[in-house]
Amino acid sequence: MVEEQLIPRGIKNQKVLEAFRTVERHNFIPADLWESAYADFPVPIGWGQTISQPYIVALMTECLDLMGEEKVLEIGTGSGYQAAILAELAKEVYSVERIVSLAKSAELTFNELGYSNIKIKVDDGSLGWPEQAPFERIIVTAATPIVPLPLVEQLKEKGKLILPLGETFSQVLTIIEKKQGKISSTSVCGCVFVPLVGKYGYNRQVS
Ligand code: SAM
Repeated sequence: MVEEQLIPRGIKNQKVLEAFRTVERHNFIPADLWESAYADFPVPIGWGQTISQPYIVALMTECLDLMGEEKVLEIGTGSGYQAAILAELAKEVYSVERIVSLAKSAELTFNELGYSNIKIKVDDGSLGWPEQAPFERIIVTAATPIVPLPLVEQLKEKGKLILPLGETFSQVLTIIEKKQGKISSTSVCGCVFVPLVGKYGYNRQVS
C-alpha cells in the first residue's frame, strides 16, 4: 500500500509514511472484507459508512503538518483508522462520531491496540468538542457544505483545519488556516466523502 499507492502519488513526509507502515489497516475493517483492507479504494464499515481510500487518508494527514505535540480534533471517527494514524503523529487525538456502534467498535479497537492518547465522544461533530478546545489541528472526514463555525472558533491561532467542502457527491479538499485571527483557505484537490450529518453539515436545521 505504501510503496504502490502512497509514494508514487507524491506522499513524501517520512513520518506519515512510517505511520502507515505501523498501523495495520485490517484491524479497522470487518473480517469478511480483509481481502480489501489494503486496496486502493474506500471500504464499507457498516451503517452506510466507509473507511476512506488510503491515499486520501495519507494526503489529509500530510496536509496537517504534524510535529508531534499537537492536540488534534477529528470529526467522523468511523473505523478509527485515521485517528490511529493521527495518534502516531500527534500528542492527543479527540474524535467525534455520531453513530454509537461505530464509536464503540473503534474504542474497542483502540483499547486492543493500546492507543491511550485517543478519546472518543458520540455527538454531532459539526459542533466540535468545546470542552476540549482549542485544537492545533482539526480534520473533518465527512463532506460538509459549509465550514462549520464552531470548528473555526475551536481552532487555535496558527492552527490548521482540513475538510472536504462542497456538494453531496463532489467536494474540494480544503485547508483553512487561522493567522492573527484571520482565516485563509487553500484548495488541495477534488474528493468524494460521505456526508457530515449535523447542525453545520447536511440536513442542518435553520433556526
Ligand atoms: N475517519 C474514518 C475512518 O478512518 O474510518 C472515516 C470516516 S467516514 C468517511 C465518515 C464518518 O463521519 C462516518 O463514520 C459518519 O458516521 C461520521 N459522521 C457523519 N456526520 C457526523 C457528525 N455530524 N458528527 C460526527 N460524525 C459524523
